[in-house]
Amino acid sequence: MTLEKLVASKSVNPKTLAITFDDGYQDIYKYALPILKKYNAPATVFIITDYIGKENTWDVNLGWIRYEHLNEREIESLIDAGWEINSHGISHCSLRGLDEEGIIRELSRSKTILQERFRQPVRFFAIPFGNVNERIRRLAIKTGYQGIAGFYPVKYYKNPLPPGIILRLAVYRTDSLKSIKQKLSNNGALLKEVLKQNAINLCSNATIIVNSLR
Ligand SMILES: [Zn+2]
Repeated sequence: MTLEKLVASKSVNPKTLAITFDDGYQDIYKYALPILKKYNAPATVFIITDYIGKENTWDVNLGWIRYEHLNEREIESLIDAGWEINSHGISHCSLRGLDEEGIIRELSRSKTILQERFRQPVRFFAIPFGNVNERIRRLAIKTGYQGIAGFYPVKYYKNPLPPGIILRLAVYRTDSLKSIKQKLSNNGALLKEVLKQNAINLCSNATIIVNSLR
């Protein structure tokens, strides 16, 4: 199911899921699109508007490896295949480091750019580095988003969610079929994966720190 349909559904089969990709790398077009097409499964991609068709110079990774982002033509192909295009901001900066005006700019400008360029509604925002706070949640709703997707803070494992918050469980290259099954479960195995993701999210803050030193 697309994210929009899943969020709009009052009750869904517990086996339903929405697949989302952050950052909009070119390998989504090369590898994910053909596989998901085969299974007739649409997905959502969260695009960084300043990096359409460019390398990921925003990212601090091991060995400073560079990857290409999707270009406009590839994004159009995803839309043609029934995918949703949503926003991952203008520059992939940490919104927590910005003042209110800066946060609104990242939210609002990226939404406008995508809507105008691809003539598609942009309903959701995936926050770079995963951590949504109350101010950012409120501003996302104020700037016209239906929801903001981050990672899965463990505090929401048993507690109710504030309006507009979308929890996601990340799948990394280090994941196995077993760990993916655990993420899709509804028991203690899920909690284990949530805790693991909380630890990984702490590490992604290293990128924020290094970027602030550059
Ligand atoms: Zn990202």
